[in-house]
Amino acid sequence: MTQVLYTRLHYEELPAIAEPRLPTNFAYLEITRSGFRWIIPYCLICRLRHLHGGGGPADDPRQFLNHRAAYCTSRGYFLRDGSPAVTADLVYHAQARRRVV
Ligand SMILES: [Zn+2]
Repeated sequence: MTQVLYTRLHYEELPAIAEPRLPTNFAYLEITRSGFRWIIPYCLICRLRHLHGGGGPADDPRQFLNHRAAYCTSRGYFLRDGSPAVTADLVYHAQARRRVV
């Protein structure tokens, strides 16, 4: 049963794009020296780890979710926040740190 859960691809509807169904990967936010990045610990397509840019320190990294290009599939995939509460916390603290400096 666990095996089935880990190998099943999730799909997301994309209303504005001609090909409406793309695989979905869950990503987790990380703060870097130059801003943010999204980490996919386990790609459901190729089973590898992927990194995606999440913008600079003044950006909201959640704007960099949704449809992203990918090396492992020509159509790209849909990036979803795997932990929205942790993301909100990290963004809040990153902004607070910028206000102090
Ligand atoms: Zn992949």
